[in-house]
Amino acid sequence: MNVVKLELARGLGRHLRAGHPWVFRKALEHVPKIPPGCVVDLTENGKFVARGYYDPHSAIAVRVLTRDAREAVDAAFITRRVRQALAGRQALIDLTDTDSYRLIHGEGDGLPGVVVDLYAGWAVMKLYSAGLTPYRPLILEALKAGVPGLKGVIGRDEVGRDDVDEDEGRGSGKMLYGHEAPEQIAIRERGATFLVDAWRGQKTGFFLDQRENRYLIRRLAKGRDVLNCFSFSGGFSVNAALGGANSVFSVDLDPDAIALARENFTRNGLPAEKHDFLAADVFKIIQSFKEEGRTFDLIILDPPAFAKSQRAVQAAIDGYASLNRQALGILRPGGLLATASCSARVSPLDFMGAVREASFKAGVDLALVEERYQPPDHPVRLQFPEGKYLKFYVLQSV
Ligand code: SAH
Repeated sequence: MNVVKLELARGLGRHLRAGHPWVFRKALEHVPKIPPGCVVDLTENGKFVARGYYDPHSAIAVRVLTRDAREAVDAAFITRRVRQALAGRQALIDLTDTDSYRLIHGEGDGLPGVVVDLYAGWAVMKLYSAGLTPYRPLILEALKAGVPGLKGVIGRDEVGRDDVDEDEGRGSGKMLYGHEAPEQIAIRERGATFLVDAWRGQKTGFFLDQRENRYLIRRLAKGRDVLNCFSFSGGFSVNAALGGANSVFSVDLDPDAIALARENFTRNGLPAEKHDFLAADVFKIIQSFKEEGRTFDLIILDPPAFAKSQRAVQAAIDGYASLNRQALGILRPGGLLATASCSARVSPLDFMGAVREASFKAGVDLALVEERYQPPDHPVRLQFPEGKYLKFYVLQSV
């Protein structure tokens, strides 16, 4: 194997030895002229530290694949990692009446930059680095061998984005294997049905990471007037209605997502005409509800990631505080606020701080009734705290 050696800047070997998988370009002594996907050995004083793949375009120049100097990065390696991710996946998650979940979760599965979601037999593969392109056929073969009943694989590359968890990008897919997937795939999630636009929809077409939280909302919604902000295709909304909500108001900026939300109500035998669907800006809608004096007894906030860079973290925390404060202004006494953050750079503690500030400024005392993170098909490596990106808190106005 022809491996390029790259010397790390002084003192930077430690975090790699501890298991962190990223090497930023500025952490390299010299930036080499090598093609995307080239296998590199990172060294400190000439001594091996870790092996990974190179990306000439991303700020993350190397993503680590192994810390074992004897482990070659070849077809057998990719097969092993994919197999490891697939093994026992189903045992970890509750798949009652559910046919869709994440098969491979990037860094959390030792395959940095690789995301594969399964939708009712179709897999959607998204590669978040140009350095992964040479490995695409190997990952595809491993999926074909390892996923029973696989109907096909749609490829959706998102080269140039480092934040796997924060991607809301839309792109168009390509059939890489198997039967042509339908325009919209009908999936099952805890007995509910959703249409997923795996070809073009946000992320890979659906936000599988909120599966358990959507189910929780089904349990909490009974008899309540629900406002679902940033509803996308109505995942939380359908669950609220299935759980016996009195009314559900869904708001999202994306008109395609709102159309899909309405369609998803009908698919689940729910009368769409009894509920509200609006393509609009959440911030403006909350403001106008405030002016009208319209209130709700369950408000769901699941906004897109606010902090897209390290520099934007404080602004993101302030953004969460302000959004949650606005929502509390239209929450009935005794009502529930279900609030989420998917910004990897905003820690659980910081997010809770933002909600606390919102509570204080809105003059609404809150009790935490549920504190949740992402489900086990989105595993978090302890050495990679950025991987614990999804926070979901349910609070009651007291
Ligand atoms: N809760 C959803 C996922 C939400 S993703 C689920 O369970 O499936 C975030 C959504 O916020 C996206 O659909 C995006 O279109 C929407 N969005 C972003 N900015 C917005 C804004 N200012 N007002 C309303 N929606 C917005």
